[in-house]
Amino acid sequence: MRFIDEAEIYVEGGKGGNGCTSFLREKFRPMGGPDGGDGGDGGTIILEADDGLATLQDIKLRREFRAEAGVHGKSKNQHGRCGSDTTLRVPVGTVIWDRDTGEQVADLTHTGDTLCIAHGGRGGKGNARFMTRTNRGPTEHEEGLPGESRHIKLELKLLADVGLIGLPNAGKSTLLSAISSARPKIADYPFTTLQPMLGIVVGPHYKSFTVADIPGLIEGAHQGHGLGIQFLRHIERTRVLVHLLSLLDDGGLPYSPEALMAHYTTIRSELAAFDGELDSKPELIAFTKIDSLPDTFDVAALRQTFAHAKKLYFISAPLNQGVPELLEDLGKRVWGIAI
Ligand code: GDP
Ligand code: MG
Repeated sequence: MRFIDEAEIYVEGGKGGNGCTSFLREKFRPMGGPDGGDGGDGGTIILEADDGLATLQDIKLRREFRAEAGVHGKSKNQHGRCGSDTTLRVPVGTVIWDRDTGEQVADLTHTGDTLCIAHGGRGGKGNARFMTRTNRGPTEHEEGLPGESRHIKLELKLLADVGLIGLPNAGKSTLLSAISSARPKIADYPFTTLQPMLGIVVGPHYKSFTVADIPGLIEGAHQGHGLGIQFLRHIERTRVLVHLLSLLDDGGLPYSPEALMAHYTTIRSELAAFDGELDSKPELIAFTKIDSLPDTFDVAALRQTFAHAKKLYFISAPLNQGVPELLEDLGKRVWGIAI
């Protein structure tokens, strides 16, 4: 399953109505002044976040949206009505990009958040507006202006209940593929997986919950290096983090407790440096690759080093060791039950 739902659409504000050129003609006032009214402004296209929506499917089906045009001005100083606005409802968590500049325009994170994405064109002035002391009978009026138009990309970041974090090779993708039907790329570094993967875990006694594999969290991520910052945003939306730490280095040798603490701190400082409250999210610490750990490894020393954690998990995703217990506790955390 893809983590991101996307749509690309064209939006256009309504054209402004034209101003009118007209002169008052009444029986007793043959030389009446100019009375051409203004055109109404065109309607605006507005995006509004709505927590009742879950996908961008509806928007995707109708790819183009044009707001109503303003009505032209008329004689007797009648101003044209403004075109009505068009509101497109999008799910909460939709990020809007300008397709042509690649710029992020907005991030609609709360229900009710709105964004005017394409303003309507201004209505033209009627000739009544052009009367001056020296020009009592102006014949000019303005045309209404076209509405703004743009191509935009909408991206919905789905909310994951659980975010898997850790250095490259910690075993995030392996765990996700073991506990869900998601099939992330394994051992593909750096950043071959450009998008976090989302998997659905069906817990043993609890309702199911979603888990996101957040790849490539590296030092400097909060400064926007690599793709880290994008992923930190994803993490912001999760409820519980699982911090994975590989017990073994690439050569299969165990890390010292100090080295593991250094890995742990690297990720923790990334979370802390990102503004927001990432570092106060509940976190479970799980050490991976216990299946290949030599018997001589000093677990007690490791527990000592990580004494701040109430509980440590030791897992092997390929062999399903320790995984059921981790899932059990995760399910509880997601559903708000004490571990
Ligand atoms: P990620 O970068 O955190 O997503 O790490 P991956 O899931 O891609 O795993 C990195 C490497 O470690 C891969 O070669 C995996 O096969 C291996 N690996 C992951 N978990 C385990 C484990 O529990 N035991 C063993 N022996 N190898 C693992
Ligand atoms: Mg991975």
